[in-house]
Amino acid sequence: MALITELQGIVGTHHVLQGADLAPFSCDFLGGYAWEPLCVVRPGSTREVAAVMRCMSQAGIAVVPVGGNTGLAGATAAEGMVMLSLARMNKVVEIRPASRVVEVEAGVVLDHLHAAVGVHGLSFPMTFGARGSCMIGGMLSTNAGGSNVVRYGNTRALCMGLEVVLADGRVLDLMNALHKDNSGYDLKDLFIGAEGTLGIITRAVLKLVPAPRAFATAMVAVPGLAEALQLLNRLQEATGRAVEAFEYMPGSFIERHLALHPGARAPFDAPHAVNIMVEIGATAMRDAEPGPDGVVPIVTYLEQVLAGLMEEGAVLDAVIARNEAERAEMWARREAAAEVMISYPHRVDTDIALPLDAVSVFLERMEQVLPQIAPGAKHIEVAHLGDGNIHYSVALAQPDTALAETITERVEDEVKRLGGSFSAEHGIGLSKKSSMARRKDPVALEVMRSIKAALDPDGLMNPGKVLP
Ligand SMILES: Cc1cc2nc3c(=O)[nH]c(=O)nc-3n(C[C@H](O)[C@H](O)[C@H](O)COP(=O)(O)OP(=O)(O)OC[C@H]3O[C@@H](n4cnc5c(N)ncnc54)[C@H](O)[C@@H]3O)c2cc1C
Repeated sequence: MALITELQGIVGTHHVLQGADLAPFSCDFLGGYAWEPLCVVRPGSTREVAAVMRCMSQAGIAVVPVGGNTGLAGATAAEGMVMLSLARMNKVVEIRPASRVVEVEAGVVLDHLHAAVGVHGLSFPMTFGARGSCMIGGMLSTNAGGSNVVRYGNTRALCMGLEVVLADGRVLDLMNALHKDNSGYDLKDLFIGAEGTLGIITRAVLKLVPAPRAFATAMVAVPGLAEALQLLNRLQEATGRAVEAFEYMPGSFIERHLALHPGARAPFDAPHAVNIMVEIGATAMRDAEPGPDGVVPIVTYLEQVLAGLMEEGAVLDAVIARNEAERAEMWARREAAAEVMISYPHRVDTDIALPLDAVSVFLERMEQVLPQIAPGAKHIEVAHLGDGNIHYSVALAQPDTALAETITERVEDEVKRLGGSFSAEHGIGLSKKSSMARRKDPVALEVMRSIKAALDPDGLMNPGKVLP
């Protein structure tokens, strides 16, 4: 009670949540983890975050930062701990259109940032299904990826500066908008992807890009993933690397989506095994302005590439979105991925990264491996193919922890053989800690532990996550 009173003194009585108000903070998005936090504290400024952390450090109580709580690795689990929500720190502080940067507080919701910078004809080029609730601090802390990584990189690549409150309440000011700053170690990169285990991100400077003036979006059926890469590379050459999204959905994904959404349309008249959603974005007027015939040049580039590949037999069918509604329909199908996966109640989920030309090798290999270790088990996957990230899941008939571990290990074996990573974009949290113990280079783990000990000697920042 003394701690609660002290926290109320820092942030105000209404901003220390207890009892029934803890419900949204007591489980993760996928429902795989449930916990009871001590309370949720909602500071309104960096100064208040620092005061909370000083108080927690004196009390020796662990803190779990939380943004939108949309993470997919169980990284916000906080049994008996204090959760620190950034939701009140939700200001877009300053947009600087001339230098193409924006300063934000960590609690800004991704959708809100898109709207705020869109007014200036600019874009923060990162998007995924949770954009209506995930927050910038959470995205930085998981180094989130999503569908635009093929063109713009992940959240790390879009971050220029950070402000972080450390475990003892000190404020680390790394807030700059510099493209070059070789003044020693790049400390900000330590906190990006750290999942709240090293400090609390309170503000950031992010890169912006010109918002595309026009998009060409299509569903394309190809004979196999080798032809899909041919399509990607041809489009990159034809458009000057303007591919914004290149997403793979197998026939089984499309079928399941249609079963869950009886009103939805199939992408093609006949079903196909390999379906690609591609989007190209044009920022230059010469590519985006409709010509006298009303046709937008970027759409013509797409049509020309598709026609050429069709003649070569590398494209089987293609449908180009003719208007915003058709484009939205294509995106809605892709962004239903979490829902499609969740519709299988007992799953083994993976989030792997591979060199682009190894994705098909991995999937072919798993066609042989899976029936040997889990006869009859169905697999379903979706991939940000443009950056080599596959979400390969196996649906089990019933929960089976031992089998789940076997499948995970076999996936890891194949991934390792192909030079990939067991963790692409969702982070480690709790769900990938065993993979981390098995697969991460032991020296890398030692270095990580040294960094953790230096920044958080009492182990109060999101303990039990990331490091095995
Ligand atoms: C429908 C859906 C689709 C998704 N699609 C993608 C996708 O395509 N690509 C992708 O990369 N991810 C995807 N995700 C997961 C993604 O990681 C999260 O949605 C997002 O990045 C996390 O933001 P959040 O604010 O919800 O963070 P939270 O879930 O609240 O937190 C995530 C982690 O960050 C830490 N954290 C949060 N805020 C801070 C802070 N200010 N300082 C320090 N640590 C902090 C937490 O302690 C936790 O460890 C998806 C999730 C959903 C639900």
